[in-house]
Amino acid sequence: MAELSLPFSIESSRVVILTGAGISAESGIKTFRDNDGLWETHKVEDVATPHAWNQNPELVWKFYQQRRKQLLEVRPNPAHNALVALSSVSKEFVLITQNVDDLHERSGSKNVIHMHGELRRLKCEKTRISQERMSKKDLQSDFIYCNCCSVPKKMRPDIVWFGEEPYHLNKIFESVEDCDLFIVIGSSGHVYPAAGLVNLASKFGAYKIIFNLEPPVNSHAFDEIITGPAGITLNKWVNIILKNYENSEL
Ligand code: NAD
Repeated sequence: MAELSLPFSIESSRVVILTGAGISAESGIKTFRDNDGLWETHKVEDVATPHAWNQNPELVWKFYQQRRKQLLEVRPNPAHNALVALSSVSKEFVLITQNVDDLHERSGSKNVIHMHGELRRLKCEKTRISQERMSKKDLQSDFIYCNCCSVPKKMRPDIVWFGEEPYHLNKIFESVEDCDLFIVIGSSGHVYPAAGLVNLASKFGAYKIIFNLEPPVNSHAFDEIITGPAGITLNKWVNIILKNYENSEL
């Protein structure tokens, strides 16, 4: 990694980052597809589809309440922190995440685009109004009811389930089309449309790098593949970028 050479300077780059479950793995949040990932113990159709919520809301609620409570026990890791440092030297910086945890925000990242929703939020089944609900009583096993309807309705996790449309797609496509540098961190490349964003970046001429534990299924789409735990690899890479930036300022 020492002979790193970006084909342009970071201070004149419009950077778009796309993170996946792998960036939070070193904080102790399970990924989806690794050997001990979430889908080893739960089938996707049982807990992460609108059908599952209609058929067995108790199971879905229990699954998400465990994950919501887990947020209180985990902390951002060096990969989350490295992105905050990178944002401070880039001309423009957009952070898109597939993750539903809040570790980017807690490390100091601003304006994070959560394309698959957020564990901290619940939404009314009827009006779809979303609210942050993380008080002690919001984390119990009982269902939570909204305060937007005259007859309060059950609230569901504000998560984009399989078969639902991701949030903020227009903004995401615009940012990717406009960027010079597109960086993916910790994503297996299986879940679309997120996995297809690298192709859009390619079409519009961006330089594309992925940091992942192992080569992802869409490896061919990237200019550089940096394998290993992101807490180490991304942190090293950002430190080199920051050093180059400081030298260019002298
Ligand atoms: P994924 O589980 O499909 O892939 C994760 C990738 O990260 C794998 O390729 C794995 O090799 C890699 N990885 C594991 N540990 C790593 C590390 N320490 N450093 C770098 N890479 C590492 O996850 P995905 O691509 O994000 O895909 C799908 C879905 O997972 C998304 O819809 C997302 O909403 C959801 N998800 C989110 C969370 C979270 O919020 N933290 C957790 C699990 C899943």
